[in-house]
Amino acid sequence: MNYGTKPLSAGLYLVATPIGTARDITLRALDVLASADVISSEDTRTSRKLMDIHGIPLGDRPLIAYHDHSADVVRQRLLSQIAEGRSVAYMSEAGTPLIADPGFALARAAGEARLPVISVPGPSAVLAALTVGGLPTDRFFFGGFLPNAKAARHTALTELSPVPGTLVFYESPKRLNDMLRDARDTLGADRQAAVCRELTKKFEEIARGSLGDLADQFSDRSVKGEVVVLIDRARQSAADPAEIEAALREAMKTLRIKDAATLVAGSYGLPRREVYQAALGLEKDE
Ligand code: SAM
Repeated sequence: MNYGTKPLSAGLYLVATPIGTARDITLRALDVLASADVISSEDTRTSRKLMDIHGIPLGDRPLIAYHDHSADVVRQRLLSQIAEGRSVAYMSEAGTPLIADPGFALARAAGEARLPVISVPGPSAVLAALTVGGLPTDRFFFGGFLPNAKAARHTALTELSPVPGTLVFYESPKRLNDMLRDARDTLGADRQAAVCRELTKKFEEIARGSLGDLADQFSDRSVKGEVVVLIDRARQSAADPAEIEAALREAMKTLRIKDAATLVAGSYGLPRREVYQAALGLEKDE
């Protein structure tokens, strides 16, 4: 098949690439890669390989490595190419650029310079996981990678506990056990969750269950590959006020009053402000 038969107008083309299976690339992405004047990429080796698989020659076009931490001079070089009327196709190593990947600083700078920024959409692990994870997709919050340090991870999870949508996290396989354990301890063992591993690849695995079950299931497994963790929103509970008060008293033993209120509100699916008021009342009593 011949790709890129029509010339491209000048602009920055943000090209999504497969997250596993090489054929998960769109025909338009192949057109753009075949006809862009300049190819730029987070990882030039991976991008060359992808182009080879699909029979797209680089020819004498420049292939420029770019990461948001690249020197400003690389960014300026790419922007100058567009300003001079050329098309620049940018890809990250896998999936959609800018989504937990480089490209944001480049796209923002292009926008600020009033240069066209064009989306060439395609795969992303966030959406792939949501489609197979079995949790509601009406609303979701992408949390990216949680912090590595336990205390910071706990704070981040406590903050996200009351979000009224499915939480989506990217996670390293090495930290999966710790992350599931901390999520169970912070958000409650009963919350539903899913571990989506190696999506679109040979060893794809979807494990669904409560955070308690998943933390147990993965505690003695050493996991390889790439992982997305989905966590359900807190569900409205019919817990009685005495139970909520007991949970608040317990949480206030170790947490600041604000964090205790956030945690309990998240666990019981209650408005945070209401629980905070109750916590202030308890503090006053004591
Ligand atoms: N930009 C990419 C996207 O749109 O999905 C994400 C890049 S981020 C640096 C890499 C992380 O995405 C991995 O650590 C993993 O959490 C997730 N990921 C990427 N590919 C995956 C796959 N095939 N299965 C599960 N998770 C994946």
